[in-house]
Amino acid sequence: MLKLLSFPSLLALGLLAAPAAAQSPGPAVPLGRDSLTRKGYTLVFINQDSALAPATKQRMTEAFFTVYPQEAKRFNKQTRRRVVFFVNPAYKGVAATDHGIVDYSPKWLRERPEDIDVVTHEVMHIVQAYPNGSAPGWLTEGIADYARYVYGVNNQAGNWKLPDYKAGQSYTNSYRIMARFLVWLEQHGHPKVVEKLDAAARTRTYTPAIWQQQTGKTLDELWAAYAASPAVQLVYR
Ligand SMILES: [Zn+2]
Repeated sequence: MLKLLSFPSLLALGLLAAPAAAQSPGPAVPLGRDSLTRKGYTLVFINQDSALAPATKQRMTEAFFTVYPQEAKRFNKQTRRRVVFFVNPAYKGVAATDHGIVDYSPKWLRERPEDIDVVTHEVMHIVQAYPNGSAPGWLTEGIADYARYVYGVNNQAGNWKLPDYKAGQSYTNSYRIMARFLVWLEQHGHPKVVEKLDAAARTRTYTPAIWQQQTGKTLDELWAAYAASPAVQLVYR
């Protein structure tokens, strides 16, 4: 999910300025913040969940340092070098990104510990850095799930898949449905289409005409061809 209007950064910045909270007993990750830098990228990890498992924090951190540089290299080398992960009990969704800060639900991390690639989706939103209104939401989320599919480190164990095509679907269904369509386009003669769409959205040059400019067909024509023959080859890690 991508936040467009909310601004949790104030809260996060308040926490950044505060001293680390008291250590909680038991094996959980201590409350507070720490940061780690590898190869020019810094991850600040703020934990406010007294029950966060150390293994979960470790896996989220490894996913970040594995995936974010790959997404950056392919799509946006100018992306932020410093990212904040905030395990935030006050946040009631699954995860959401606003500028360089990703909120994570402690409840979700506890109940779905294999869903590590929620990281992969969210940090792609940081790489995307689309100005507000520069791309339809279904394209933004479709590209983020496309990145989760391509760069995910634990999708198989997380039981995360691109769903089979079904009659009645539309690209406006967004997320995984749009992501599968992007994979299909790549495999059917348009290997650079995701880069083109992503760059256009970031530079405010996305318009509906871009589909025809890049592929020779309108989006609706492409979708009709997809619906008529939707097979794709998929490989999960
Ligand atoms: Zn998203």
